[in-house]
Amino acid sequence: MHYNSKIGLVETLLKNIRGLNMFKFIKKIFGTQQTRTIKRYMKIVQAINAQEIAYKSLSDEELKAKTIEFKERIQQGETLDSILVEAFAVVKNTCRRLVGTEIHVSGYDQKWDMIPYDVQLLGGIALFNGSIAEMQTGEGKTLTASFPLYLRALTGKPTHLVTVNDYLAERDCQWVGEIFRYHQLSVQALTGKTPVHERKKVYESDIVYGTASEFGFDYLRDNSMAQSKDEQCQRGHYFALIDEVDSILIDEARTPLIISGPSHQTFQMYAELQSPVQEIVKKQRDFCNKLASESFKTLSDLNLIEERQEAIKWTKDLEEQSKSALRQLWVVSKGMPKHKIVKRIKENPDLRVKLEQVETYFYAEPNREEKATMLAELFIVVDERSHDFELTDKGIHAWEALKMGTSQDDFTMIDLGHEYAKIENSPFSDEQKVAQKVHLREQDAKRKERAHNVRQLFRAHLMMEKDVDYIVHERKIIIIDENTGRPQPGRRFSDGLHQAIEAKENLEIQQETQTYATITLQNYFRMYDTLAGMTGTAMTEAFEFKEIYKLNVLEIPTHKKCIRADANDEIYMTEREKYQAILKEIQEVHSKGRPILIGTESVDISEKLSRILKQAKLNHHVLNAKQNDKEAEVIAEAGRHGAITVSTNMAGRGTDIKLDGEALKSGGLHVIGTTRHHSRRIDRQLRGRSARGGDPGSSKFYVSFEDSLMRLFASPNLTQFLQKFRPPEGEPISAPILNKSIETAQKRIEQRNYSMRKHTLEYDDVMNKQRQEVYAFRNSLLHDEDIFSLIFFDIIHPLCETIAEKHFNGKITQESLESYIQMITMRFPIRIDNRAFIEKATSLNKVIYLTFKEISNILKRKLELQAQMIALVQEATGKQIEPKTILQDVIRNLLIRIVDRKWQDHLLSIDHLRNEVGIRAVGQKDPLQEFKQEAFHLFADFTNQLNYAFSNGLFGFEMMLPQSEELKKSIERVQSYKIPKRYLDLDSIQEIENHSS
Ligand code: ADP
Repeated sequence: MHYNSKIGLVETLLKNIRGLNMFKFIKKIFGTQQTRTIKRYMKIVQAINAQEIAYKSLSDEELKAKTIEFKERIQQGETLDSILVEAFAVVKNTCRRLVGTEIHVSGYDQKWDMIPYDVQLLGGIALFNGSIAEMQTGEGKTLTASFPLYLRALTGKPTHLVTVNDYLAERDCQWVGEIFRYHQLSVQALTGKTPVHERKKVYESDIVYGTASEFGFDYLRDNSMAQSKDEQCQRGHYFALIDEVDSILIDEARTPLIISGPSHQTFQMYAELQSPVQEIVKKQRDFCNKLASESFKTLSDLNLIEERQEAIKWTKDLEEQSKSALRQLWVVSKGMPKHKIVKRIKENPDLRVKLEQVETYFYAEPNREEKATMLAELFIVVDERSHDFELTDKGIHAWEALKMGTSQDDFTMIDLGHEYAKIENSPFSDEQKVAQKVHLREQDAKRKERAHNVRQLFRAHLMMEKDVDYIVHERKIIIIDENTGRPQPGRRFSDGLHQAIEAKENLEIQQETQTYATITLQNYFRMYDTLAGMTGTAMTEAFEFKEIYKLNVLEIPTHKKCIRADANDEIYMTEREKYQAILKEIQEVHSKGRPILIGTESVDISEKLSRILKQAKLNHHVLNAKQNDKEAEVIAEAGRHGAITVSTNMAGRGTDIKLDGEALKSGGLHVIGTTRHHSRRIDRQLRGRSARGGDPGSSKFYVSFEDSLMRLFASPNLTQFLQKFRPPEGEPISAPILNKSIETAQKRIEQRNYSMRKHTLEYDDVMNKQRQEVYAFRNSLLHDEDIFSLIFFDIIHPLCETIAEKHFNGKITQESLESYIQMITMRFPIRIDNRAFIEKATSLNKVIYLTFKEISNILKRKLELQAQMIALVQEATGKQIEPKTILQDVIRNLLIRIVDRKWQDHLLSIDHLRNEVGIRAVGQKDPLQEFKQEAFHLFADFTNQLNYAFSNGLFGFEMMLPQSEELKKSIERVQSYKIPKRYLDLDSIQEIENHSS
C-alpha cells in the first residue's frame, strides 16, 4: 500500500524526527544547566515557603510594615538578592490574605482565589534574575509576574510590565495590582486612552502596566517633541518584564516605531503613475491567461488532465505539443505564481512532476539562454519566494511605449560622475557650472524618486494581497500583522509602499510623511538595566533571545501535567480535500459537544472557512482583524460546550479559554490548525490554547500541498515522492519524509525572518548611537541648570574649533589668516582688528581662542541686552520673575526647535541613504558597510550644521516688546530713571576659558 490513512508507522517516525530537531539538540547540550538552575531555584522556593508560614501569624499591619522595612534596608545598601526570600514570602502571604476579596476587574467583580503555586515562585525567581520564563498558557503568568515586580519596585526605580494590548494592561493592573495596593505601592495602567498630560503622573507610580508601543512612543515623544522638562513623562528605564515576550521582541520587532509628520519636500507621484502600472500588470495578466488556457486546452486534448475513455496514440508531434504546453505553463508560473490554471495542473501529481522537471531543466546552467528567451515573453518576472520581481525588456518597452512624461527615463539612472566631469570640462563660468550641477542633482533626485514610486506601485500590485497583507477599512489601508493576524491601525508600510497600495486601491493617497523620530523595539528595550520576559513559547527562539537581548530562556515545569493529545499532521494534495477533511472532523468532534478552536493563517482563510461552516449549518464565531472588537467576549465563549470558534492567530494571546463543566466532561477543547504556520512557535502557541492547567484537550494540524509553506519552501524532491504516493481523492498522505519536509521548510523561513530582523537591527544600531547622542544633548538642553555655559562650551567653542581646523587645514600663513578673518566676520556679527589678531594668532589653538573670545564677547553682550529688556518689561508690568530664568527658557525653546528640525532633516537624509545603498548592493558592495560609513559622515555634517544653526539662532533672536501703547509708555518711564544693571553673570565663562587656554 502506498498510502496510509491511519498514520501508524509514521507516528513513531515523526516523533523521532521531531525528537532530533534543533532545539531538542540544543537542549541536550544545555539540558544539564537548565536542570541545575531549576534545582537551585527550587531550594529558594522551599525557603520562601518556610518564611511564608512564619508570616501567617503576623497581623495585617505587621505584614504591611514589612514593605517599609524592605525599602529601608535597600536604602541602606542591602541587595535585592538578599531580600528575595522574605519579599517573595510577603507576596505569597498577601495572596493568601486576599482570598475571598472582591476585586473589580474589567467591569466585573471577581473573587480572589489564588495562592501561588511553587512553579509560580520558581518562574518569579527566573524573572527577577532577568531570564525568560517559558511557562505554558494557563499556568498563571500574570500572578507570577507580581513577585519580581514587587521586589524591583521596592527600589523606587521605574518598574514596567509590558503587555500585548491595552485591555490586558488594564485588567492585570486591576487584578494582581491588588497585591501592590495592599502594600501602598502605587500601580497604574498606561493605555492608548491615557491623555498626554496625565502620563507623567502614571510614570511616577511604582509599577506601570502598558503596551510596548505606548512605552516606546512615550520615549520618542519625550526625546523628540517635549519642549520642556515638564512635558517629559518617563523617569528612566530600570526593569521591564515583557509578557508574551516572543510576540513583542520577535514578531513585532520587524517594524520600528515611527513618529512622522508631513514632509516639506516631496516629489511623490503615486497617483499619476498608478494607472500606467496597472496597465502593464493587466497586460501581463492577459498574456498569462492566454498562455495558460492555451496550454490547458492542449494538455486536456492530450488526455493528460483527466483520463478519458479512448486512449491517445502518442506520436512525436504530440510529445512536442505536450512539452511546449508545459513550458508555457512554467512561464505562466513565473509571471503569476498563483494562477488558477497552474494551481489546477499541480493538483495532478504527474503533471506536477513534469512541471518541476521543466523548472529543473531551466535552472541548469547550459539552458540559461533558453530560459532567458522563454522568460523574455513576460512583462514582469515574479519571484514569489524572495518576494521580489523584475521588469523584462519587453516590460520596459511596454512601459516606455505608454509615453507618459519621462517614462523613457524611468529605468536608467543619471551617471552623475560622468555628467559632472562633462560640466567641469565645459567652457562655462564657475557660477554657471555650479548652477548646472545643482540642476543636475535635482533632476537626479526627481528621477530616482519617480523610479522608486514605480517600483513600489508594482510591488503593491504584484506582492501585496488584500485581506492577507492588509485590509481596507473605512477607506483606509490597515496593516495586518503577519504573525498575530491583528490589525495595526496607525502603523504604515514604510518607504512609500503604503501610498502605493492606497493608489492601487483607489483611496486617497496620504501625503508623504517624514520621520520625526524612530526606534526599533529592540533598541528601546535594550535601554533597561534589567529585562525579563515570559511566554508559552520561547525555546525555538532561544538563540535569538540570547544573541540580541542577552536573555536566557528557562523552561518552567507545569503545575499539573499536561494531558493534551497532539495528533500527527494530516496532509492532503489539494486545499479542496483539506477543507473537506477539516469539515468532517469539525462535524465529528462537534457532535460530541466538545468546543473547537480553528486557527487560520489569514483573514481571507478565516472567512472562507466561515462560509464552509455556514453551508454545513454549523453555528460559529469568527475572530479576525476585521472582527476583533469582541475579542474578549468571543474568547470567553470559546470554552463552552458545543462552541465553534474560527480565528486568526490572534486568538486569546494572553487571555485564557475557560472550559465549562460539560466541555470538560466531553474531552475539553479541540484545536484544529488549518495549515502549518511559517513559524513553529506560532503553531505551538495555537496548540497551547488547549489542555491548559491540566484540563483534557487535543490538537491536530491539516496541511495541503497548495499551502504557501509547501509551495514555496518544501524541498523539490517532494513532488517525485508525491507522484509515487498519490492517494485516492480525499485520502490523506502520510509518510515521515513529509513531516520532516514541513519542519525543514518552517526552519528555513524562521532563519530568513531572523536575518531580516537582524538586518533591521543592524541598520538601527548605526542610528542608535547617533540617536543616543542627540537625545542626550537635547536632554541637557532641557535639564541643565546653566544653559549659558552649555551655549559657550558645547556649542560656540566646538564651532570655533571646526571652523578653524577646516580653514587652515594644518597651515597658518599670513594669507590664510586674512581670508580666515574675512570669512568669520562675514559669518558672525563681529569686528576684528586684523593686525592685532594676526600678530597674536601664532598657532591653531591661539586662533581658536581668539575667535572664541571675539564671538563670545559679542554674544554675551547680546544676551545681557536681552535680559535687560526682559527686566524692563517685568518692571513695567509689575511681574517679578528673574530675567535670567525667562531668558534661559526662551533660549532652551529656541535651541530645542533647531535641534528637532535639523535632526528631522538628518533622519530624512538617512532614509534616502538607506534607499540608495540598497540600489548600490547591485554593485557588489556591502550595503551595510556603505551605510555605516556614509551615515557617519552625514552625522558629522549634521553636528556641524547644528552648531551653525545654533549660533545663527542665538545671534538672530530678539525679545519682542509688547505692542500696547500703554505698556510702551510705562517701559519708557522705567527706562528713563533706571540705570541698566547686569542680570547674567557671564564673565565667569570667559574666566574659565582663559584659564583653560
Ligand atoms: P497565562 O498568562 O499563563 O496563560 P493567566 O495568568 O491568564 O495564565 O492565568 C490563567 C488562569 O489561572 C487564570 O484564570 C488565573 O486566575 C488562574 N490562576 C493562576 N494562578 C493561580 C493559582 N495560583 N491558583 C488558582 N488559580 C490560578
